Amino acid sequence: KASVMDGDEFDDDGQPSELLESKAKTALEKLQDDRKTLPIYTYRDQLLEAVENHQVLVIVGETGSGKTTQIPQYLHEAGYTKRGKIGCTQPRRVAAMSVAARVSQEMGVKLGHEVGYSIRFEDCTSEKTVLKYMTDGMLLREFLGEPDLASYSVVMVDEAHERTLSTDILFGLVKDIARFRPDLKLLISSATLDAEKFSDYFDSAPIFKIPGRRYPVEIHYTKAPEADYLDAAIVTALQIHVTQPPGDILVFLTGQEEIETAEEILKHRTRGLGTKIAELIICPIYANLPTELQAKIFEATPDGARKVVLATNIAETSLTIDGIKYVIDPGFCKMKSYNPRTGMESLLVTPISKASAMQRAGRSGRTGPGKCFRLYTAYNYYNDLDDNTVPEVQRTNLANVVLTLKSLGIHDLLHFDFMDPPPSEALLKALELLFALSALNKVGELTKVGRRMAEFPLDPMLSKMIVASDKYKCSDEVISIAAMLSIGNSIFYRPKDKQVHADNARLNFHTGNVGDHIALLKVYNSWKETNFSTQWCYENYIQVRSMKRARDIRDQLEGLLERVEIELVSNLSDYETIKKAITSGFFPHSAKLQKNGSYRTVKHPQTVHIHPSSGLSQVLPRWVIYHELVLTTKEYMRQVTELKPEWLVEIAPHYYQLKDVEDSMSKKMPRGEGRAQQD
Ligand code: ADP
Ligand code: MG
Repeated sequence: KASVMDGDEFDDDGQPSELLESKAKTALEKLQDDRKTLPIYTYRDQLLEAVENHQVLVIVGETGSGKTTQIPQYLHEAGYTKRGKIGCTQPRRVAAMSVAARVSQEMGVKLGHEVGYSIRFEDCTSEKTVLKYMTDGMLLREFLGEPDLASYSVVMVDEAHERTLSTDILFGLVKDIARFRPDLKLLISSATLDAEKFSDYFDSAPIFKIPGRRYPVEIHYTKAPEADYLDAAIVTALQIHVTQPPGDILVFLTGQEEIETAEEILKHRTRGLGTKIAELIICPIYANLPTELQAKIFEATPDGARKVVLATNIAETSLTIDGIKYVIDPGFCKMKSYNPRTGMESLLVTPISKASAMQRAGRSGRTGPGKCFRLYTAYNYYNDLDDNTVPEVQRTNLANVVLTLKSLGIHDLLHFDFMDPPPSEALLKALELLFALSALNKVGELTKVGRRMAEFPLDPMLSKMIVASDKYKCSDEVISIAAMLSIGNSIFYRPKDKQVHADNARLNFHTGNVGDHIALLKVYNSWKETNFSTQWCYENYIQVRSMKRARDIRDQLEGLLERVEIELVSNLSDYETIKKAITSGFFPHSAKLQKNGSYRTVKHPQTVHIHPSSGLSQVLPRWVIYHELVLTTKEYMRQVTELKPEWLVEIAPHYYQLKDVEDSMSKKMPRGEGRAQQD
């Protein structure tokens, strides 16, 4: 208030502040009125009664009916928070943040006070928090500190139909604690109608259906398959804009890069449309979009303009955007797949399922009749698309989850109560990897190393690298590298018109062919030396937002070091020890150069290549370790560092034998073309 009263334009009779207060009140009142118009409002009392009478309830209602924002509030209003917090899980970070922000507005409280959210590396809650929105992965981690979730009175596993890995594991855990905590209420909510499966799993829990409002949606297919769905999507959006009556457009794309490209092309092409055509407001939304920019998609479209939302799967059910009348569905999403034989994980653009296609189409019929443009043929839809998306637990690397479950004291994983069990090979593979990383002993019990690793909310190989940095006395450097790797590939910025400058700036960090891990470290340290200067980031074509996030993550990792009693020590004089610490976590990801310039992974031989964005892509060292594989046009290794093969035998003698690495140790290295000699 002080700052308001300081202004010259205010009298000192207190009127302006009263005025402000009454204005604020009407905004709040309006939000309260809006709440009453949601489909779920009619069922408020029935719902509360059902929760009172049943410990576990499956709730089904269409996207936008008010499940996520309203149910926790109803329970709070009914007094459930007197006994403990209400936790509501979301499969996606953006959803957890955005929904918490909305609910705090509706309740007229500051975000982080009574209503908060918790996502990995970001805790926006306080002592006061009674409604806690969080990612499913965060609730999973809370079990480590509080195995009976004693501080919760209600747990709502929301967006259950998404069947993410963490949600599926939560099912097993909450089902188990519900047995010895009769006071705990469990809500499983889903946007799709296949609730029977959830009900069956939770010992025939009753199903509460919230009838939604649904307007007819006209479905259009293309006559022939589209060669370039991104271009087709852009053309379709512009056609709608020019020829169709008012109403916003929602386009489903597969990821950040694609969305940014589409945004650029749309901006360019709308400039050419002339002033007679209404304004087209372009709103991107994806998981890594900074919070400030997310709010834009929820703002009402001004009269006479049209909004086009470019979204990932997040808009399928996790976020409700009002005012959508047209949906463009290219029919793809990015999906993880896992090969349990080789242990390789890849993120692939994959056709969606019929269930997804239906959800997407449904986004257009919420406030009035809608239209959905499917950029594939009717034949494709009926004959090629699977009915449902395969649950993540069946197509992912399970090492992380297995480590978490082992830390929770759950040993018999083959008999864990999975709703749909993972392939047993995938479980075995996870156990094998954790054994190789010394997180588990021969009989599958958690070791001291494993216990330390489990403290870090990171993939086991990254955690192992940090734990190993203790031995190599370089924990300071290694947590910086881990933080930078956790950001993904959004650190360097490469504007289309300045690619050469951007590439040169980036090469500066690679002097001496230090490898991508050390280059990331140099980026971080250089930024730190400038006192975290934003200007420095601009000059070096580095995304300041990503760097700030890396700094936050690093701070948290530093805090966790203390918990596992690893001293923070710096050893910048010697990259070799840092590389050895990295190797201690990533030795299973080793590859050897072939004659034709490709690489062959050592353990489960497979042909791979160094990603063009790597500082070593022209250098082609004989031996490398990589952070991850990505499949685009080829199988690429991303974040690559040169390795001395003898390290593999030194660091992981249980994993590599001399014969795996011997040829290069006995023979002299050939001086191949395009290969810089470093010794
Ligand atoms: P459900 O979980 O059933 O899909 P939600 O509770 O998420 O429904 O959303 C109900 C309504 O609340 C939406 O239709 C929308 O009008 C509003 N809403 C939700 N989140 C936001 C937000 N972040 N900003 C503005 N409005 C929102
Ligand atoms: Mg919801």
